[in-house]
Amino acid sequence: MPLTTGLRPGAALAVRCAGVLLIVAVLAIALHGVGLAGPASLDSLFSGWLYYAAEVGAATLVLTRALAVPRERLAWLLLAVGIAGFTAGDIYHAVALEHTTHSPFPSPSDAGYLLLYPCAFGMLMRLAGSHVRHLHKSIWLDGAICGLAIAALGSALVLEPVIHSTHGSFAAVATNLAYPLGDVALIMLVICVFAVTGWRPGGTWVLIAAGFSLMAVADSVYMFRIAEGTWQTGTTLDALWPAGLTMLGFAAWAEPREETEVLPSRLSMLLLPGLFSALALFLLIRADFVHLPLIPELLAAGALLIARWRFVITFTDMLALSEHREQQASTDELTGLHNRRQFYAQLGASVEGCEARGGSFALLMIDLDHFKELNDTLGHYAGDLLLRQIGPRMQGVLREGATIARLGGDEFGLILRDGEAATAVAVAERIHQALLSPFSLKEVTVAVHASIGIALFPRDAEDGDVLLQRADVAMYKAKENRSRYAFYEAGSDPNSRERLGLAAELKDALAHGGLVVHYQPQMRLDRDSVSAIEALVRWQHPQRGLIEAEDFMTLVEHTGVMRELTTLVLEQALGQQRSWRARGHDLTLAVNISAQSLLEDTFVDDLKSQLARAQTPPRRLRLEITESILISEGERVRTVIEALAELGVELSLDDFGTGYSPLTYLTEMPVSELKIDGSFTAAMMHDRPTSIIIAGTVSLAKQLGLALVAEGVETPEQLTRLREIGCPFAQGYLLCRPMSAQQLDRWLAAGATFEVQHQETPAEPLPGLTRAQQASAPLFARMPARATFAPAPALLHRLAR
Ligand code: C2E
Ligand code: MG
Ligand code: MG
Repeated sequence: MPLTTGLRPGAALAVRCAGVLLIVAVLAIALHGVGLAGPASLDSLFSGWLYYAAEVGAATLVLTRALAVPRERLAWLLLAVGIAGFTAGDIYHAVALEHTTHSPFPSPSDAGYLLLYPCAFGMLMRLAGSHVRHLHKSIWLDGAICGLAIAALGSALVLEPVIHSTHGSFAAVATNLAYPLGDVALIMLVICVFAVTGWRPGGTWVLIAAGFSLMAVADSVYMFRIAEGTWQTGTTLDALWPAGLTMLGFAAWAEPREETEVLPSRLSMLLLPGLFSALALFLLIRADFVHLPLIPELLAAGALLIARWRFVITFTDMLALSEHREQQASTDELTGLHNRRQFYAQLGASVEGCEARGGSFALLMIDLDHFKELNDTLGHYAGDLLLRQIGPRMQGVLREGATIARLGGDEFGLILRDGEAATAVAVAERIHQALLSPFSLKEVTVAVHASIGIALFPRDAEDGDVLLQRADVAMYKAKENRSRYAFYEAGSDPNSRERLGLAAELKDALAHGGLVVHYQPQMRLDRDSVSAIEALVRWQHPQRGLIEAEDFMTLVEHTGVMRELTTLVLEQALGQQRSWRARGHDLTLAVNISAQSLLEDTFVDDLKSQLARAQTPPRRLRLEITESILISEGERVRTVIEALAELGVELSLDDFGTGYSPLTYLTEMPVSELKIDGSFTAAMMHDRPTSIIIAGTVSLAKQLGLALVAEGVETPEQLTRLREIGCPFAQGYLLCRPMSAQQLDRWLAAGATFEVQHQETPAEPLPGLTRAQQASAPLFARMPARATFAPAPALLHRLAR
């Protein structure tokens, strides 16, 4: 009796004793029936007093449970009332009817007995309701099939003799039928519960089933014997009713079943409903040969009807399941878009379709910018949140017939049925616009910039794999150029002959003096004086003219010559700085250092010896590193940066605001300067939030004791605004364009005064490496993505909020 653990020790002991006494009483009645407990003269003691005492004991046990334990109180109260009614019926029978020769039928005793059925029903329904929830429809149906089939069988066995032996008034017939039907209904309901719990109903239900089964057996045997005229008291059968009631008393104190979700097991799904439907079918077939009363016939027919319904449900479930599986196999779980597998299949089909019928299609490769930084900074959960929102966003701007899929990570593939370049551009623009509206990632909102590579079939490749590769190359070109999209061009393909040729030319330039350093002064705004000089590498190409760093740094990275380049730039620039110093210009030199160089094992040692050779005080050298290095390289970069700080060189955070680095880095890393990216300066005059962000950054830098340089100053208005908001340093074409060493020498000799500079005609564009429209327009006007803040730095949003 596990439930007694919650009671006070005295009460628990009393309940347990009552249980033991009940068992003893039932055993005594049974043993007396076979002559092992007292002679026949003691019949009235065993089949009378002890019998009624056992019934009262069972009712009391259930009632105590209802009163002592609040859980499912009503259910057990109902049962207690039912058993009390049953007991009252027995006692009334013993007292008022047993010794009369013509006892009425039905009598008040029957009312007491029959009270047990509605009460037991109410109790079973309430218990079932609280023990079994979240049921699959098919499980209920299984329960109903089993219950109806057993009810059909039970009523077929019991009703026939009862009906035959029943004569008299309507009330008499109805009362006689009420017992077997009530028993059958109770058993049916219990079986239902067994089935719906996956045939693991728990102790309470097993005891309930045992209790009602014993009662039903007792009723059935009693009716048979009465019908045959062979019933007599004082036999073992007398023990069946108190035994049944005792079981119910024990059920009341058993551990209730934990409510769990029931999943149909294989046994309950297939075997049991099948067996019970077969039983119902057997009864109906047999009814053709042997008479079957209407009630079992109806019950069997009901079981078969429900079995058919169950079959329909199983069938539709299976269909839905296979559809779901199919969909799962072709869907990317996170974004809900097609997955890579489905994309390849679609790509193959598009190629085959075009080969068979002619025609063309476009393949777009879409890659999100700064996604790794976002993941590293805000966590993978935020990354997933973003990807989840991106799927529907992109789908929303596509027309019917387009196939979009997530190919992995932050990379998406898109197939457009129309192979026109103009259509591909329009779609790329729409996607770009769609991604610019901010995405909400729990605490922050970010806008996303994507780089889109476009390859056309059959123009750029004649098979799917190569086309995909070429769209990838185009995507990298878009990334390098910071443009929204780029078409595949053989020249920008790292595997193409032209690109390989350029790599060889670059190595040659490095070895034979083809790379030179230009210098751009930075201005201290409160004095209009020069504060530092930034070294910017240039490639003096024999055919293409002077190529700016922006346009060949990626080639440097891919060619694996970054280390040589950094050494060369530092060597030239430190030598130049030394000559300025010799002429009385003690200027700070700023040199850009890529992540690759910074993470070279020997970088700090090499730098030390270069500084020593040029006799440069370390504090006169400032290394410009980009924000993204801080995030992506984590601990390794921190060690190098600390070593550099220890050496005494200054550190500047270049392109500040374009990455996702947390502001805490500013306090943790020993940087002494921030350079606000030129895209902010370019937008500040027409975009109020940007202007506010720059002003905010000015005050942030001031409070953190950091120097602040605004890059890319091109107009007098920008300069005036920067002065107004108290920005201390500026750099840009307006003040001074990057110059060769000789030009800078002359500029210094002429007094190092800043004037508004005019555009020079730039070098001939380098196919596949230069930005698309590299004409005379200002740099940032040629970078629409950046000018409109497409990379959507988290900083921007954090500050704007
Ligand atoms: P950065 O360090 O942010 O350099 C500023 C870039 O903006 C330079 O382009 C400069 O010529 C350009 N610029 C300066 N003022 C203006 C202006 O008013 N308007 C516009 N539109 N642009 C302006 P450049 O020389 O092509 O360099 C691009 C980037 O390449 C640099 O960005 C830097 O990250 C990298 N880089 C340049 N030289 C080196 C180098 O020696 N080593 C390494 N590792 N990277 C370098
Ligand atoms: Mg720089
Ligand atoms: Mg910069």
